[in-house]
Amino acid sequence: MDLTETDHVVNCAYCRVKSYLVQKDYFRYMLPHDQDHEKDLVYFPYWRFKGTMFSYVIPDTINKRFMDISHQALPLDIFPASLGLRPQALKLKFITPETAGRFIEPKLDMKQIMDFIKIRFNCSLKTKPLYQEFIGENLSMLYAPFYEKQGKLMDAVLDEPVFKHIPQDINVYEINGGKPGWQIKFISTLCPECGWDLDGESDALVMVCRNCHTLWQPYEKRTIKLPFKKLPSDKKPAIWLPFWRIKAEMSDIKLENFEDLIKIANLPRVAQKGDDKAGFYFWTPAFKLLPRYFLIFSHRVTLSQPRETLVDEMPEEALGTVTFPVTEAVKSLKINLAGFMKPARVLESIIQDIYIRPRKYLLVYLPFEDQGHELVNLEYKLAINKNMMMHSRNL
Ligand SMILES: [Zn+2]
Ligand SMILES: [Zn+2]
Repeated sequence: MDLTETDHVVNCAYCRVKSYLVQKDYFRYMLPHDQDHEKDLVYFPYWRFKGTMFSYVIPDTINKRFMDISHQALPLDIFPASLGLRPQALKLKFITPETAGRFIEPKLDMKQIMDFIKIRFNCSLKTKPLYQEFIGENLSMLYAPFYEKQGKLMDAVLDEPVFKHIPQDINVYEINGGKPGWQIKFISTLCPECGWDLDGESDALVMVCRNCHTLWQPYEKRTIKLPFKKLPSDKKPAIWLPFWRIKAEMSDIKLENFEDLIKIANLPRVAQKGDDKAGFYFWTPAFKLLPRYFLIFSHRVTLSQPRETLVDEMPEEALGTVTFPVTEAVKSLKINLAGFMKPARVLESIIQDIYIRPRKYLLVYLPFEDQGHELVNLEYKLAINKNMMMHSRNL
């Protein structure tokens, strides 16, 4: 089966049955090759990180850098340290238990690699960041095929030597590993409640039942119902885009209601009656966006604190696909706060120690109008170019 790495929902080419793919921990892929000596192949593991490094640096700046990097998951000099641009250039394939070859076991865990990446990345910054978070949902293990030919280590993708003389004490066929033991599981995409076929594009993290108006999120071996609401709207919007609304507990600062927000963000507004009653929530897009827009959208909605009574009803119009998980959204809260908290010197003094613990979340749809090239929400001053939004989905 040929799939891209953002595919979660697939259609069987034969029987047209749709399924949702899940794999324990993370997805594993291999680089494609056209070697016929399959039995002699050795697959070397690389961690692949795809996401954005957000760094808060003095003076009061959030540096954002999108990264798509791979790194050896086992330190061994004869193999290339990373896969370079290949993961973007080649069509990756899923590994099944039937895939022939020996799969070398990874030794370094993702935290070790992430620390290494941070050190390397921070050398490129002028000042050491006070706070840093890597946000993005794509973490996977890539396996690259190699084989040995007359003492040389051959790259099986290009069919070229990558290491001229393998040292005598290394036998590439005896490095700890074995057959691929992991299995991709297929979950049914029929609504557990009414049996209707769920809607979901190939990169959807949440599927929609248009029959009984429910949302379903694959979780381990089944799908669980995801509560959601929408903002009220008196117009007929073109599309509703999903956002995560997150309630969190914080140390060091008091940010529990709108009145607190006015002070903390130094908003040009006098607190009004009821502002101390309206609970404070963080908001982030629930769809992938380029880092800059991700921050803008998060800030604008968080600073606006939508307070209309949410409606417990699925919009009739188009729904934007959820492509950004809440598990990543909660990692962005401190960066979100860093974007609006004032003055900078107070922020600088607390940003390292403050904790923000997510407590509750809800998926909320916000209405957007179609204005030609852009989708726009005037109330919260959000505008996004449609092409760019499509492009962001590949992040
Ligand atoms: Zn089938
Ligand atoms: Zn249903």
